[in-house]
Amino acid sequence: MTSTDRTPTSPHRVVVIGSGFGGLFGTKALSRSDVEVTMVAKTTHHLFQPLLYQVATGILSEGEIAPPTREILSRQKNAKVLLGEVTDIDLERRTVTSHVLRRQTVSEYDSLIVAAGASQSYFGNDHFAEYAPGMKSVDDALELRGRIFGAFELAELGAQRGDDIDHLLTFVVVGAGPTGVEMAGQIAELAHRTLKRDFHYINTREARVILVDAADQVLPPFGERLGASSKKELEKLGVEVMLGAMVTGVDERGLEVKYRTGRTERISAVTKMWAAGVQANPLTKTLSQQTGAPLDRAGRIAVNPDLTLPGHPEVFVVGDMINLDHLPGVAQVAIQGAKYAAKEIDGRLKNKPPQEPFHYFDKGSMAIISRFRAVAMVGKLRLTGVIAWLMWLAVHLVYITGFKNRVTAVLHWFVSFLGRGRSERTSTEQQIFARNALKQLAGGASDLVSEPDTVPRDPSELERVRREELEERAREEARLTDAGERGVPVEQRAG
Ligand SMILES: Cc1cc2nc3c(=O)[nH]c(=O)nc-3n(C[C@H](O)[C@H](O)[C@H](O)COP(=O)(O)OP(=O)(O)OC[C@H]3O[C@@H](n4cnc5c(N)ncnc54)[C@H](O)[C@@H]3O)c2cc1C
Repeated sequence: MTSTDRTPTSPHRVVVIGSGFGGLFGTKALSRSDVEVTMVAKTTHHLFQPLLYQVATGILSEGEIAPPTREILSRQKNAKVLLGEVTDIDLERRTVTSHVLRRQTVSEYDSLIVAAGASQSYFGNDHFAEYAPGMKSVDDALELRGRIFGAFELAELGAQRGDDIDHLLTFVVVGAGPTGVEMAGQIAELAHRTLKRDFHYINTREARVILVDAADQVLPPFGERLGASSKKELEKLGVEVMLGAMVTGVDERGLEVKYRTGRTERISAVTKMWAAGVQANPLTKTLSQQTGAPLDRAGRIAVNPDLTLPGHPEVFVVGDMINLDHLPGVAQVAIQGAKYAAKEIDGRLKNKPPQEPFHYFDKGSMAIISRFRAVAMVGKLRLTGVIAWLMWLAVHLVYITGFKNRVTAVLHWFVSFLGRGRSERTSTEQQIFARNALKQLAGGASDLVSEPDTVPRDPSELERVRREELEERAREEARLTDAGERGVPVEQRAG
């Protein structure tokens, strides 16, 4: 049905872009409304980003933090899920265009909630990404897992051969915000505690874990006091904290940093991880061009106090993509914003007056440093140590989606925090190399599939093609046997 075919009784169509915190909570908040929701997202899962570092360091499996969106929403009758990367939003025509492997879908909407989040920013040095992956997706976390555990394996191999292995046993995390701190703390625990008995030729406790940041303190959003205590805790764990050090170059074997004094230093390290900056989803550019709403340096779009775009009360933007009242890029901003947008859409359909402007309720922030050590800020309260760590556990358990995932996460935490184990150490070669390999294809994964219409669709035609292939293969097998070519070395056969 096109917009012109619509009758006054047709349900109000809401398109939600993204299946992250904003997208999922916005869709769920519309479950009792008289609307038809289409959630368009480029992944089939809802990702709990705050626990990505635990996937990267072998504590949790990817399934525990990324359940399928389809399953989460299976009971919501007014919601459907559409896989696709949104490439265009036409505010005039009220359409959203998405693509997946060369298939295009155009979805029409009456109201739109845009919650496409943010990606890693390399501050204009995107080529650093080749050797220093960020941590925004399941792919990133699994790649990092492969790189971290792989580095220990290569070091073992090198030590056995008498090679220099310092660069293999040095791990650098760039960015001392919550993600960087959590990652550095976990790699240190891995090296100094978990893996200490697993190798024969290397002493994993000698591994260097370095946390680098251009700022002068660790965890700036937590204030000076908590920042200083976190730095001390990290140092106790054996993490070297290098502050005031800007990364100026990254290559396969290491990275260069420059201090404010002008002094430069090269660190030899095969495993690097980037957690230094964020850039709002590029969809903000098209929204800005069409509305004149300005973008800030991180690409976030300025929205009205009710989270709508200027001149487009039917379009709400929420979460990491917005620039409003210096709101931080945290999950609660996205969740509360999406719920606010859903309530406004529902209220309009019931002819209710508009809500008051969006007000963010800050429930607090926390970051884990290692087992039993965390920092938390709740209102005026500043907490450190075991109490903050227990709070962190409780809050994350509440927000992990699905009962089964909560139970298995607790079990894995027991194994890793009380014991020494890591249940999820499996990694594959493809996890380590696929991202860079795909980048070499101009059209990415789309280059690996045929155009949808070039494959015969008729099942009997497909069967005929497959049968011909199988028969041809069988004829070749028989010929090789009859000609006595099986088991004959190739050179001999050629001669
Ligand atoms: C490693 C890490 C740790 C974090 N730790 C914390 C923490 O401890 N506490 C906290 O409060 N916050 C934390 N955050 C921040 C928090 O995760 C984000 O603020 C929050 O996810 C923002 O929600 P969102 O809905 O705006 O975006 P996201 O949750 O990022 O969701 C964006 C969605 O849009 C989809 N998408 C993107 N582009 C397109 C497109 N073109 N077409 C279709 N779909 C698209 C994505 O696949 C995703 O589903 C962390 C973030 C990271 C990366």
